Amino acid sequence: MPIQNLVIVGSGPAGYTAAIYAARANLRPLLITGFQAGGIPGGQLMTTTFVENFPGFPNGVIGPELMDLIKAQALRWGTGLVEADAENIDLSKRPFLIEAEGKPIHTHSLIIATGASAIRLGLPQEKIFWSRGISACAICDGATPQFRKEELGVVGGGDSACEEAVYLTKFGSHVHLLVRSAQLRASAAMVDRVLANPMITIHWDSEVVDVEGGDWMTRIQVKKRKSGKTYLLPLRGLFYAIGHKPNSELVLGQVKTNSKGYILTEPGRPETSVEGVFAAGDISDSEWRQGITAAGSGCKAALAAERWLSKNGLADFVERDVIEPSEVKTSTPTEITTESNYEPDALWQKGSYALRKLYHDSNRPLLVVYTSSACGPCYVLKPQLRRVLEELEGKAQGVEIDIEIDQDIALQAGVGGTPTVQLFKEKELIKEWTGVKQRSEFKKQILASLKTV
Ligand code: NDP
Repeated sequence: MPIQNLVIVGSGPAGYTAAIYAARANLRPLLITGFQAGGIPGGQLMTTTFVENFPGFPNGVIGPELMDLIKAQALRWGTGLVEADAENIDLSKRPFLIEAEGKPIHTHSLIIATGASAIRLGLPQEKIFWSRGISACAICDGATPQFRKEELGVVGGGDSACEEAVYLTKFGSHVHLLVRSAQLRASAAMVDRVLANPMITIHWDSEVVDVEGGDWMTRIQVKKRKSGKTYLLPLRGLFYAIGHKPNSELVLGQVKTNSKGYILTEPGRPETSVEGVFAAGDISDSEWRQGITAAGSGCKAALAAERWLSKNGLADFVERDVIEPSEVKTSTPTEITTESNYEPDALWQKGSYALRKLYHDSNRPLLVVYTSSACGPCYVLKPQLRRVLEELEGKAQGVEIDIEIDQDIALQAGVGGTPTVQLFKEKELIKEWTGVKQRSEFKKQILASLKTV
């Protein structure tokens, strides 16, 4: 691979906005999306429902949809993508070296936009009840059948906690907001929504000490911080919304960071302590942390990188074959399959009808992906699964089940969160995955199942 002008690491609003500007400046940037390290591709907006404060969307926009649009815009102008985690960054030599998928990538300049990821509480029994009651993403997992009409809890007092508490009232019978201090630090509009909601009870001065249960979480231990008194709260779900930590591991010790690991830049500017390396978004912003501020800083980083490359005579501008790139198509949701539009050989269908038919009638491996409408990781995973099926040229098929529509099926299948993927072959469950996994994992398992005929 030739030396790149500019590599951008990170695929949230900061990374993709930087890519839009750099691509339009004919720098043909290469963007490493990240995969599992530091959350999911698309960043924190992928785990948000309605974003109501991003300019241009007067009625709000679903977080993952907004990210799809920004990504499409970056691709339209010629951004190259590496859909993997950056495994190593070496800033000690020029051009800089980045490794992804085990391969070296050399670049003259770099924008680090790796964002921040959700913090866990680290409770004694947290690992046991992770995905069996505890979740770090109410928006992804709230629609899970086990939480329906049950008492649920949210830990935290910021905008995320308030948003998630309100969201969970759609599913649970009641929501308990566990706040460690005597105040919420969320925005006033969000606080008003929580206070006005009779389905939410706020527990002030309350710390979660541990969780208990059998196969699934049944209650939590809470301690009043001032008095030290403890009590049990029967809950079937506990959702963490206690803030984030910067994903700066790859450059720690190579660029200047503060004591919490946030990258330090020139005040109000994207330049880091290493020339040619720029930072954008939450990785260098522990204060504002909004989609729009991240996008704005991504723009600044790209413009600064372009100037730096030009000043140092390093920019290798590309020539466009077509001056005006053609319009991009953004993804459209799959229609639910019914008796009238069911196709026995289709690669991808949706809903319980298609599932029943394929489960009983097809002898090909069947991938069933359980999703919910606001689940950001599902947006990431679905196109990956479709690509696997396309690559297998019809040797296997896929069905999507929206667990909000087909709750009974999700319950029967024991789905504890979305996305969950199950691989069946001739009515036998061969493998189950939860969360986003590499394409190669699914492909390997499907190919193995084809051999066992
Ligand atoms: P914040 O850092 O704003 O809030 C974290 C909350 O978790 C605080 O209330 C904090 O308590 C609490 N907390 C931290 N550690 C613990 C712990 N160990 N035990 C119990 N509680 C703990 O994070 P958010 O994710 O809420 O928000 C991040 C940024 O994103 C903010 O700028 C926010 O405005 C923005 N945001 C905007 C949204 C929107 O506009 N739709 C939605 C979500 C987020 P304490 O206050 O005592 O420190």
